[in-house]
Amino acid sequence: MPGTPPPDQCRILREANFRWEGIEQEAYKAEGTHFSGARRQTLVGQPAGQQAPAFETRYFEVEPGGYTTLERHEHAHVVIVLRGEAEVVLDQRVEAITPLDCAYIAPWAWHQIHAVGTETLGFLCIVDRDRDRPQRPDPQHLDELRRTPAVARRIRT
Ligand code: MN
Repeated sequence: MPGTPPPDQCRILREANFRWEGIEQEAYKAEGTHFSGARRQTLVGQPAGQQAPAFETRYFEVEPGGYTTLERHEHAHVVIVLRGEAEVVLDQRVEAITPLDCAYIAPWAWHQIHAVGTETLGFLCIVDRDRDRPQRPDPQHLDELRRTPAVARRIRT
């Protein structure tokens, strides 16, 4: 019947200590030296072989002092911090965010998330299932970003 999903598609993922039941903890990305101390769990999305909606919901952890890739892309991100403290580079800005703050990372904004303080940073990131590949900055992009001193101090490549 249209509009009535099969009953077994709905599910609850139980959490204990920032691990979700049945979800593998994976590397943040397959390879690279442009990030540090980061890992992911995909709570809703393709890897678990479920019926996949048009978005993915992932949980990332970054060790203190670690960071995600400095990148940009056409797709947007919604980031919601669950634990720890972050500084997020958003083009020419560096913003501090703490648990339950929500960051919208717009299409084509340069972004990098840093775990600051002494605690592991944990955040949810919601993203399109079908999305373009991230671009990393070339030397000219880096020159432009580094014109803002706070950004120059924060970014890692
Ligand atoms: Mn990104």
